[in-house]
Amino acid sequence: MKYDIVIIGAGHNGLAAAIQLAKQGKQVLVLEKEPRPGGAAKSGEVAAPGFIHDLFSMNISLFLKSRFYVENQHELAANGFNPVYSPHPYASVFPDGDGLAIDTDAEKTHQNLASYSTTDAEAWKEFDALYDQVAPYLYKLMQRELPSLRAGLIIFRALLDLKIKTALKVSSQLAKSPRQFADSWFESDKVKSLVVPWGYQMDYAPDISGGAAFPLIEAVGHYREGIPFARGGIQTMIQAMVAMLEARGGVLQTDTWVNEVYVEDGDARGVILDDGTYIEAGDVIGTVTPTQIAGHLIDTKHLPASFVSKATNYQYGPKTMVIHLALNEPIQWTAGEEIAQSAYVHVAPYVEDLARTHTQALNDILPNSPLLIVGQPSAIDASRAPEGKAAVWIMVRSLPAHPKHDALNEMEPGPWSSIKEQYADRIIDKLAEYAPGVKDTITGRHVFSPEDLPKEDPNLVEGDHMAGSHQLFQHFLFRPVVGYSRYQTPINHFYMIGASTWPGGGLNAGSGYLLGKKLKSKSFFKFSAL
Ligand SMILES: Cc1cc2nc3c(=O)[nH]c(=O)nc-3n(C[C@H](O)[C@H](O)[C@H](O)COP(=O)(O)OP(=O)(O)OC[C@H]3O[C@@H](n4cnc5c(N)ncnc54)[C@H](O)[C@@H]3O)c2cc1C
Repeated sequence: MKYDIVIIGAGHNGLAAAIQLAKQGKQVLVLEKEPRPGGAAKSGEVAAPGFIHDLFSMNISLFLKSRFYVENQHELAANGFNPVYSPHPYASVFPDGDGLAIDTDAEKTHQNLASYSTTDAEAWKEFDALYDQVAPYLYKLMQRELPSLRAGLIIFRALLDLKIKTALKVSSQLAKSPRQFADSWFESDKVKSLVVPWGYQMDYAPDISGGAAFPLIEAVGHYREGIPFARGGIQTMIQAMVAMLEARGGVLQTDTWVNEVYVEDGDARGVILDDGTYIEAGDVIGTVTPTQIAGHLIDTKHLPASFVSKATNYQYGPKTMVIHLALNEPIQWTAGEEIAQSAYVHVAPYVEDLARTHTQALNDILPNSPLLIVGQPSAIDASRAPEGKAAVWIMVRSLPAHPKHDALNEMEPGPWSSIKEQYADRIIDKLAEYAPGVKDTITGRHVFSPEDLPKEDPNLVEGDHMAGSHQLFQHFLFRPVVGYSRYQTPINHFYMIGASTWPGGGLNAGSGYLLGKKLKSKSFFKFSAL
């Protein structure tokens, strides 16, 4: 049978594209390597029965801002997807027993900040106002192709609204590194530690220039809106999307690895599976990385040498570990009960700890004390753990892909498969410095090392949770590679979407939605490679 569209990968972007196209009456087949859909958005009982962990991504704020969600929210809800918001979005804790929590209640946040610095508590108000000069335009830009006339109009609108003088001032702020940016706003090291870690999610370590937009929009956006999770686990979002696809006749086939996109005369004609099965398609869409395209999906004889060179030089960021804990009770933080309410607790603790960790990871050194992002989903959604108990999610950033040294000279470096549990012990020791009784409450634990992540989802190359660095050289109209930012590839009828394409990693549903719209448009034209 010939399908109008074959989509490689049932992550949320592949499913968003599939739904868009199925809505237009196209016959759509989605092929997924894993036994179940979701990609980096899956939940499961991995640490202990009865504890539902989001295995990888958990915060759905980007998804709720997406055009895909806005257009489909009622049907998603009817199919079981319901967001639940934490009004206590994030906090930081410190070795002296202090804790500093951000709350959606402005007065409460002001009091908390003022207990460390009245100057910073006042500065936070202006910091909050800066968000309005950046976020509305950035979020709109994320809903458009780059480059495009509509994206140009958004930038023009921003210039008109802000006026040149303010626009220049704001741009100069955003060009800073996260550390420079935080230093320019705040005096307290504790307040700075609330802001800077948000940039690190996108590979903006404290001293990477051009990375200030991300700490700003995450720190203030979550302060204003709280942090949303999917009630019952992120799998509910994926299940709802699959239900929407199947209701329109779309087909999802799991346990299916796509080995090759079959190309004839420069046109994609279909896909070849690892068992040799050929499936014919009008268009093929890959939720894949550029390295997978040049690595095996397309025979390089069909690709221009310049594309192969750009794709194979695509840069991945430092790596991530995820630890899931089942606890007999919520974490008892030394810093007090308020911290146990926060959706996320950052434990670096300070900006300089983050900067040191980043350098260690880049130099293949196992960090002595990496950043812990401790997620407490059961504090927000009681369905995640049995009554009185807690499901805890810890993201550890950043780590080397191939450790060659240990900063503490305690461990024999080797492949992650041989050291991951020992390194996870180091992480739990660090957590216990801030919550001394925590070890006695652990009843189950599951560790995903950087080496495990690509086994779960090949787009998480070597454990890069964002499928490629988002530093400026590889973001916006440079993502994934120069000349191919609008989902086209050098092969006709073969398109690329997913976290390695604009608007990048995160549950933004952007590329899947935009390509779905684009293939619908009669005026669709191919944007030739620069
Ligand atoms: C640990 C972690 C934490 C994160 N936290 C957050 C968060 O809190 N909030 C947030 O917004 N984002 C978060 N992210 C990022 C976010 O989850 C991803 O950027 C997003 O899921 C990417 O979605 P996608 O649909 O583009 O691709 P993916 O989710 O990567 O899905 C791609 C799918 O394609 C399949 N596939 C690839 N190649 C083939 C092939 N050849 N044949 C068959 N199937 C194939 C894969 O198996 C996978 O299922 C996190 C990511 C990780 C790993």
